[in-house]
Amino acid sequence: MQELKTGDKVNLTNGVQAKIVKELGRGGQGIVYLVDLGGKQMALKWYLKAPDNKFYKNLEENISKGSPSDAFLWPEYLTRKEKGSYGYIMKLRPQGYYEFGQYLLARRQFGSFEAMLNAAMKICEGFYKLHLSGLSYQDLNDGNFFIEPQTGDVLICDNDNVMPDGRKSGIMGKARYMAPEVVGGKAPDKYSDRFSLAVILFMLFFGNHPFEGSRVLACPCMTETFEKKFYGSEILFIYDDNKENRPVRGVHNNVLRRWPAMPKQLQDAFKEQFSKEILSAPDKRMIEKKWKGVIQSLRDTLVRCPKCGNETFVSDSAAPVCMNCGKLLDLSGKLVLGNGREILLTPNTTVYIDDDNNPDIKVIPVPGDKYPVQLQNVTKKNWVVETQSGKIKSIEPGACVPVRTGLKLSIGTLKFEIQ
Ligand SMILES: [Zn+2]
Repeated sequence: MQELKTGDKVNLTNGVQAKIVKELGRGGQGIVYLVDLGGKQMALKWYLKAPDNKFYKNLEENISKGSPSDAFLWPEYLTRKEKGSYGYIMKLRPQGYYEFGQYLLARRQFGSFEAMLNAAMKICEGFYKLHLSGLSYQDLNDGNFFIEPQTGDVLICDNDNVMPDGRKSGIMGKARYMAPEVVGGKAPDKYSDRFSLAVILFMLFFGNHPFEGSRVLACPCMTETFEKKFYGSEILFIYDDNKENRPVRGVHNNVLRRWPAMPKQLQDAFKEQFSKEILSAPDKRMIEKKWKGVIQSLRDTLVRCPKCGNETFVSDSAAPVCMNCGKLLDLSGKLVLGNGREILLTPNTTVYIDDDNNPDIKVIPVPGDKYPVQLQNVTKKNWVVETQSGKIKSIEPGACVPVRTGLKLSIGTLKFEIQ
């Protein structure tokens, strides 16, 4: 074991030197230092006990492949093996991002449902890209994510166990996040990543663990035997049809409060993913692209209530009720796509058309105008609008379109009708 101190220099494989500025934090595996790299501040993860050469080679491969998406704080440079160990360099975590665990402990809160959905989308997008490039994460848990509470932007860290899917890292993962088959002794892969992803998403939305209810709470002491049972052989979702493991009042308050408030399609997605059938069939687990679709459909029904000003999901657009004030709310209209997709509109709602986290439309109130609610183009490209009489007009970034029944609005390749 070799710790580094301020002023020490480590050699990178590309010939450059990194100078230690100070320690930023430490964990079981190693220490993270702030380093100066030719005038640029970056982070160095330095292993306390150098992992084997296979691990080193794998880091080297990941660095040359590059990050699958901007969600990852990916290893960018590798140090030589020196001073009894080695390490890798990554970008610094920017200010304002907090560990996911802080949200679970209610020390941090999302600024809005919009931000929460953005975080979910970014996590799914990250794992979609990771799996698409043939890699698996293998050790997905609540310590891997840093989230900005107002925007919902996410950074995924600890990417040093990422390996080509099917290659064994020797890491099994963290208890409570490991798929039941991994608890049972199988090596992690992209399918077990998908289980862990569903657990993380559940905790993001509901603030409690999906398999920790009354049955787990009644366990006097979480020994390895019990752990193998409750997270492996006898795993049981807290909202399974079998009610033996329901959340407990006074302990699992977050999920008790939020579960009934969240849209049915989200409840259904988790009920299915955490059903006995899917839990024991890893290759049937929901792929990231489908999760993105679920999140998109939640976004489409999330509006600002014109009565109380809070965000609400609208489950029935024919009789929209606000989940905060309980009043019927007036929808200004909706954007309808040929495939049946409907995006609900009220003043001050932000609309996301695609599955990234860049807003596309701001619904703005224009008091006194003939059309008092309008759609502002907040994209960087022109829209095309067609009136019922066939007149065509281009809508530049920043400009508005009235919410007027029958208008046809083309945004990129998508053609909506305002209803
Ligand atoms: Zn309301």
